[in-house]
Amino acid sequence: MSARSVIRHETWTLTPDREPDAEPVTYSMECAVCEASSAASVDFADPQGWALGHSGRNPSHHTFREIIMRPWRTWRHL
Ligand SMILES: [Zn+2]
Repeated sequence: MSARSVIRHETWTLTPDREPDAEPVTYSMECAVCEASSAASVDFADPQGWALGHSGRNPSHHTFREIIMRPWRTWRHL
């Protein structure tokens, strides 16, 4: 059996990982002006507070990127 035929007979599904042992979803903010970023946190209020403080310290930095880290997993069906 070739590797190619093995692949043809398998079906894979990709879903967000909601198992109890999944890595947590985390949020962080990155400044779009200077690329500084907050720590990743499971509480999105933390990076939002960081962004407000960053603008306070750097009054010309008004734009940010929210980075959401979400765990996914694959399932193989035979
Ligand atoms: Zn900045």
